[in-house]
Amino acid sequence: MDLLEYQGKQLFARHGVPVPTGRPAATVDEAVTAADAVGYPCVVKAQVQIGGRGKLGGIKVASGREEAREHAAAILGMEIRGLRVHEVWIEEASSIEAEHYASIVFDRSAHAPLILFSTKGGVDIEQVAEEDPGAIASLHVDPLLGYQQFHGRRLAFEAGIDADLVRPLTGLLAKLYDAFVGEDAMLIEVNPLIVTPERELRALDAKVTLDGNALFRHPDNAALRNPSAEDAQEQMAKERSLTYVKLDGDIGILGNGAGLVMSTLDVVAQAGGRPANFLDAGGGSKADAIVAAVEVILSDEKVRAVLFNIFGGITRCDEVAKGLIEAFERVRPQVPFVVRLDGTNDEEGRRLLRDAQLPGLVVEATMLGAAERVVELATGTAIAPGRAEPGPSRTTPTLQTR
Ligand code: GDP
Ligand code: MN
Repeated sequence: MDLLEYQGKQLFARHGVPVPTGRPAATVDEAVTAADAVGYPCVVKAQVQIGGRGKLGGIKVASGREEAREHAAAILGMEIRGLRVHEVWIEEASSIEAEHYASIVFDRSAHAPLILFSTKGGVDIEQVAEEDPGAIASLHVDPLLGYQQFHGRRLAFEAGIDADLVRPLTGLLAKLYDAFVGEDAMLIEVNPLIVTPERELRALDAKVTLDGNALFRHPDNAALRNPSAEDAQEQMAKERSLTYVKLDGDIGILGNGAGLVMSTLDVVAQAGGRPANFLDAGGGSKADAIVAAVEVILSDEKVRAVLFNIFGGITRCDEVAKGLIEAFERVRPQVPFVVRLDGTNDEEGRRLLRDAQLPGLVVEATMLGAAERVVELATGTAIAPGRAEPGPSRTTPTLQTR
């Protein structure tokens, strides 16, 4: 989960990382009130989960109330690389003597957090990495040992920071590391980390990505979740407690059990298709879960055919069949479904499906057969059974042309 800049700064502040004081605002009037409280000059900053706001007009300094009002009016509602600005953060303006860069990211291949530090901050760090890779110092931290002062000193010397800043930097990195571990973050990035004329370090920007799977341990952070910034389907799935990951193909997938769903994705790919999602309805899937899953899968407009791959262990195939029948009643899918039921009560499940005569639903006996069939249906090389007269549908253009 990505935080907005100001949420990141508030998280930093809780861990003692120095940040400019400020206030969020969602309307122009709120922004003016916030600016008055913060004092002038202040900076009006667009709160969107994207970098490079400065260059795109999303960050402006106001020397007085009228300017604060003008900037807030200009920034609120503007679009920055496709993201609408709903909030601004008004903070005291900082005087900048130098702009540095610091980040901590979890390096999975090394099984350890990686700290990066550079005195060439403020600009695009990717560009620095390309043009002058030697300017970025990096160091892994053994998670069992944790951050130690020597880590900071080594980064400081390697990056060539001014001697008087070695100690402040070492202390600041300790706090950032504390925030990284304490909040279950996956990324913390401070760009720029500024040096003030008083020779103090301050985080002028904050990019924080938290581990969504650890949010249950941090109710405060979980409350920051902004559903409107998330993918609509993933949000819908979360609300229905389904494990769903959106992919970019056109074949909707549902299975029970993560391993079965993963191999279903593989088999569909092997048959030449492109899965639209990963959806694990979980063990013991009951009718309600199936209905919810069908709703989520079909809410993706790209889906042209759906594959249900169920292996009945704890899950009973007749339950799944009942769920499907109910889902067809409630949702009335406009795309073909291929169903493979195997395992506990599979015969009963298949019988229920046969009797229900659901339009556009085919039952296949094997996983590979089901995958091949669904790919045919999605690419329009076969006509779904029971779909002699397809109605006006947004998702089945291939059915209409035949
Ligand atoms: P980003 O462009 O989205 O990464 O936003 P940042 O918060 O990093 O701001 C971009 C740039 O705006 C910084 O590198 C600074 O140069 C400038 N800036 C931001 N806040 C202030 C401020 O309080 N005072 C001054 N002088 N410059 C600022
Ligand atoms: Mn920045």
